[in-house]
Amino acid sequence: MTTRTAAARATVYGYPRQGPNRDLKKAIEAYWKGRVSAAALRTTAAELRHANWKQLAEAGIHEVPSGDFSFYDHVLDTTVMVGAIPARHRDAVEADALDGYFAMARGTQDVAPLEMTKWFDTNYHYLVPELGPDIVFTADSTKQVAELKEALALGLTARPVLVGPVTYLLLAKPALGVPDDFDPLTLLDRLLPVYAEVLADLSAAGAEWVQLDEPALVQDRTPAELSATARAYRGLGALADRPKLLIASYFGRLGDALPVLAKAPVDGLALDFTEAAAANLDALAAVGGLPGKRLVAGVVNGRNIWVNDLSASLATLGTLLGLADRVDVAASCSLLHVPLDSTAERDIEPQILRWLAFARQKTAEIVTLAKGLAQGTDTISAELSANRADLASRASSPITHDRAVRARAAAVTQADACRSQPYAERATAQRAHLQLPLLPTTTIGSFPQTGELRTARADLRAGRIDTARYEERIRAEIQEVIAFQEKAGLDVLVHGEAERSDMVQYFAEQLTGYLATRHGWVQSYGTRYVRPPILAGDISRPEPMTVRWTTYAQSLTPRPVKGMLTGPVTMLAWSFVRNDQPLADTARQVALALRDEVDDLEATGASVIQVDEPALRETLPLRDADRSTYLAWATEAFRLTTSAVRPDTQIHTHMCYAEFGDIVQAIDDLDADVISLEAARSHMQVARELASHGYPREAGPGVYDIHSPRVPSTEEAADLLRTGLKAIPAERLWVNPDCGLKTRGWPETRASVENLVAAARTIREEL
Ligand code: GLN
Ligand code: ZN
Repeated sequence: MTTRTAAARATVYGYPRQGPNRDLKKAIEAYWKGRVSAAALRTTAAELRHANWKQLAEAGIHEVPSGDFSFYDHVLDTTVMVGAIPARHRDAVEADALDGYFAMARGTQDVAPLEMTKWFDTNYHYLVPELGPDIVFTADSTKQVAELKEALALGLTARPVLVGPVTYLLLAKPALGVPDDFDPLTLLDRLLPVYAEVLADLSAAGAEWVQLDEPALVQDRTPAELSATARAYRGLGALADRPKLLIASYFGRLGDALPVLAKAPVDGLALDFTEAAAANLDALAAVGGLPGKRLVAGVVNGRNIWVNDLSASLATLGTLLGLADRVDVAASCSLLHVPLDSTAERDIEPQILRWLAFARQKTAEIVTLAKGLAQGTDTISAELSANRADLASRASSPITHDRAVRARAAAVTQADACRSQPYAERATAQRAHLQLPLLPTTTIGSFPQTGELRTARADLRAGRIDTARYEERIRAEIQEVIAFQEKAGLDVLVHGEAERSDMVQYFAEQLTGYLATRHGWVQSYGTRYVRPPILAGDISRPEPMTVRWTTYAQSLTPRPVKGMLTGPVTMLAWSFVRNDQPLADTARQVALALRDEVDDLEATGASVIQVDEPALRETLPLRDADRSTYLAWATEAFRLTTSAVRPDTQIHTHMCYAEFGDIVQAIDDLDADVISLEAARSHMQVARELASHGYPREAGPGVYDIHSPRVPSTEEAADLLRTGLKAIPAERLWVNPDCGLKTRGWPETRASVENLVAAARTIREEL
């Protein structure tokens, strides 16, 4: 490719906020504990912003983002910017803006925080705006203006990034006391003047361009929502005192929203051109491109951790050159969703490290691509040949191509993913085999992860204790957990998961083909960061992963102990996945590895095995049209994991959410024997929903809300069971908490589980 454009520039929409050592998290948490003053916290934050901008500028990014920084969440920052502070938080915010902000994020003793939910299909969580018909929006551009000025003062070209008005409203929910059917999008005409004011302030402060993020437009949108979008940008585009507007979309294809934005009187569009959004390219050509507009091309994937295929990206950029006035290069979305810097990973083999690109490496890729586009590919020939070598090494590595794993996956048949008998027959066999009482009681798996357990794990890692000493500690914990459960009178016991720091990482560490990182932190919400492991190669299980703990637990009691595994879909959802093969293939490999574990558990005496899939719903694709394909491979992976067992072995699954109406068919397709779900807070709503969908299997809607330290009384739990029984007959109802108990303390766990068992006994007598 030799086409040149002198205008191509490199940019990003956002950068990891935490600093190289999770400095922001530490400073904020120290502030919460009163150890750091507000002024010191603000200084740390400013230093981190400066360091990020300098890093970006030195790497060659021409236009840096501003305003992407946040003390907690950028959607909450938008709520502040438009003055949509919920009534219950207004006093706190007026008394002290920073403390009020954290009160909205985390709640206080007396006031509930905003609800938190996932940012599209990422693992980042935002705080849900609460809006009602009486809201009076007011503009507060303080943060945006201040951060823009900071960047400009460094001599940089900065582009403020805001959540766009349409996405903001589409992400909102009705405020407390407002009817459920209130549609926040009806507030658009009141919100636009506030955006106009912020835009004018930013323009006055020196912004040439402002970016408005509209990722909600990559989801299915109604004609009314699309016309609201058109109206919004007609309005903002017509403003007199405004900066140039760049409307950004990411996390997928724009579909019907593309012609709407292409026609809008704005100055530029930023589109996702990664594989998942490839349709954007044809769609853009179909609308005749963006004559007179700037196109920012998100060709470097902003949410995976893989090195870019620079030649492929250059080819895409070359095509795009004919479709817009000016083409700039960017990541497909904010780099918030990837770790900061892969060079910090000292434990990963140098060869494999070269396959990885975290935020810093992606920045360099963007700069290289912009240079190639502007000055010709001969100016980046060294980068291109190094990139080709890295891609070739990945493609031909035995790590990514394990013959045995591939042969086994290729040989999978329909029958492998089917249990040998239909559910109804199995249920009878299981009843005979397990001899459980009506309303059997159990827990979801984990018992409190005490400080001592965490210390023991840290001691092991630091070499202060050896493996034998550590395992002794775990066995002692298992003894205690089993003794407690027997005494409490639970029917199906668990070993308590004391050995697991995390339900995905524990398995990732033991499976071949999975990589763990040391510093690969990614923001999950607020000051909470996670280190997702990396599905890097073909997956196999060198040896059993959980069997020795489950058999040890079983050796201590005559009651059945549940084997406990994390399911294949959740393993994928909470890891960085491969981009060199379909997700379905990776899921199948993980499923086969887990299937061996299930079989080993059964062979060593487990009659009940639970395979948790709390992520089944959260990975649901953003567009309806993509959902059936996903659900087909996801449910197949679960069945592949669980189908080799005998009919009288009972397979449980667990999902921790209460709203699953849209995947009830998929839940049934898992063909599990028993499912446990969250229900305590919604007063058994899930039981009614399952019943209304004709769900035929056994189910345990939770009767103990484990998110709260509150101990439910026996009578309260019994009441919930009575409600549950109206929807699910006694022969199919289980009694259990909402989720695992690992975040709870022992005192409330003891009391709650005892009350739960007492409640089951009370109801058994009433039957
Ligand atoms: N078995 C896991 C536990 O009890 C399930 C956790 C989850 O659903 N997130 O901790
Ligand atoms: Zn759960």
